[in-house]
Amino acid sequence: MQASNSFDSSAQVNARSLFLRSFLLFVLAAFAASLCSGAETPTTKIKLDQVGYLPNAPKIALIDASGGRSAAAQSFTLKRTSDSAVVFQGKLSAAVHDPTSGDDIQTADFSAFHKPGQYYIDVPGAGRSWNFSIDPNVYSRAYYLAMRGFYGQRCGTAVDLGPEFPGYTHAACHLKGEFHSSSGKSGERDNVGGWHDAGDYGRYVVNSGITTGSLLWAWELYGPKLKNIKLNIPESGNGTPDILSETRWNLEWMLKMQDDDGGVWFKQTSEHFSGFVMPEDDKLVSEVIGTGSAPYKSTCATADLAAVAAIAARVYKPFDPKFAALNLAAARKAWLWAEKNPNVTFKNPPGISTGEYGDNNCKDERLWAAAELWRTTGDAPYNDFFVKNYAEFDSHLDSPPAEDWHEVAPMGLWSYALANRKGSDAHAVSDIRDRSIATAKRIAERTQADPYRVSLVAKDYVWGSNGVAASYGVQLLVANTLAPDPVFVNAALDNLHYLLGRNTFSLSWVTQLGEHPYRHPHHRPSGADKNAEPWPGLLSGGPNAGRQDALLHAMPPDLPPAKVYADDQGSYASNEICINWQAALVFLLAGGLK
Ligand SMILES: [Zn+2]
Repeated sequence: MQASNSFDSSAQVNARSLFLRSFLLFVLAAFAASLCSGAETPTTKIKLDQVGYLPNAPKIALIDASGGRSAAAQSFTLKRTSDSAVVFQGKLSAAVHDPTSGDDIQTADFSAFHKPGQYYIDVPGAGRSWNFSIDPNVYSRAYYLAMRGFYGQRCGTAVDLGPEFPGYTHAACHLKGEFHSSSGKSGERDNVGGWHDAGDYGRYVVNSGITTGSLLWAWELYGPKLKNIKLNIPESGNGTPDILSETRWNLEWMLKMQDDDGGVWFKQTSEHFSGFVMPEDDKLVSEVIGTGSAPYKSTCATADLAAVAAIAARVYKPFDPKFAALNLAAARKAWLWAEKNPNVTFKNPPGISTGEYGDNNCKDERLWAAAELWRTTGDAPYNDFFVKNYAEFDSHLDSPPAEDWHEVAPMGLWSYALANRKGSDAHAVSDIRDRSIATAKRIAERTQADPYRVSLVAKDYVWGSNGVAASYGVQLLVANTLAPDPVFVNAALDNLHYLLGRNTFSLSWVTQLGEHPYRHPHHRPSGADKNAEPWPGLLSGGPNAGRQDALLHAMPPDLPPAKVYADDQGSYASNEICINWQAALVFLLAGGLK
């Protein structure tokens, strides 16, 4: 009984104290809510670059005025994050309807404010924005994370993003490989290395081509800005700039995909995609896959390797002349193979269902190879091929986006114009320059006139539209190298702002970057590991009006193209990560570095 009484009385005490605590909590919560209700939860109605802006560049935030109270807003203030002090105020523009998103958009222009610091935008009736920075080095962290994104994709080795991102690790993966019967060979073929291509664990030479080429180009255009940036990768401190060490990881795998006759096999993947497991738990055999009949290698893959290895031959020369020479020899050998086999295309052989990267014309790949080999060596045959064939492709410079994995003619054309070496065809050089500059002017004008200030037009909302936006940025930056013009740089940055949050979702499309990033990429390590957040620094594919997955397919049929996106692991057609658009992002960020 005693025990029972004692229990009863303690139960009563507990009930009283529970009531008191609940009441106190309720009062506290109500108080906190009243504090927050003024402005404190950021609104997705304000869209801006969540990373931020360069002090002397245009600085524009966008406000969605579609219906609601914000439709009436006339003005905005820029506030300092630390103390909410108003540092700038301005008028909002009239709302403009944007048919690609369906939004009515007002502009908040604070370009006249230059002082570095951390800020947010406040719009009466709409709320406050995410915090962002104004800083001369505003994109250095983004560049670091995006390049580390490649390190995280490394295959054939253990990867560890700690201590900065503890728990983001995987053990060495895909250490065993073999020839698939479609390769013309049999037996073991390990080919350890390279980057996992995307959300899957395949490795594809063609997509590696544009990716590796873009990164090496970023080095060639922006080397002085990049050379001292440490990426904290295993090679850091070895005397070679980290961007080149990371790129080499993939390049070495590409070189191993070259057969003794100079031809290059198309891909190394399992027969079908693995489940959502960590890479070391993917036990499917990694197969070297060819075209299924003689000559077994693909011309597009071979010419892509020739182009990339030719760039590598000049880029790595100051750091590792032996490796540079090895690349040049591989490039020459690949070129000869592609001359003998000018258009061997690839289709998935029976029983293989991994990425096909279909392309029925490999001549643009050969044009790119010719330009890079000419630029590196000055040998006449490469120039002859280029001069004889470039006119077939120069109209491609007029209809952007120019850069893509299956359309590499612009890379060849630009390289030829940028090299402009003794013996180059002067007419070709001026033709390419003029067209590239005229196109960049058109894109820049269009971007400035677009309500979201992005270069994308309705037809660009395809699979990987974020890569298309980044590629517009690449194109504008290349034009700026040919003929420097701040208008080109600002339009390139506009595309970056779109990717980093100035979009209809007010979402940063780079994982773990900005205060409101997307969180559920179609990316096996992010889905399979125990971390709450996805692997950092990875660009999403973005809105895709093609709707090639069930989630997008189920969306309302009249949804505007820029809205067809799902932050959902299952939406591989709108939310997968991929190395080729990751490389275009890195290029764009490199252009924005101090
Ligand atoms: Zn792997």
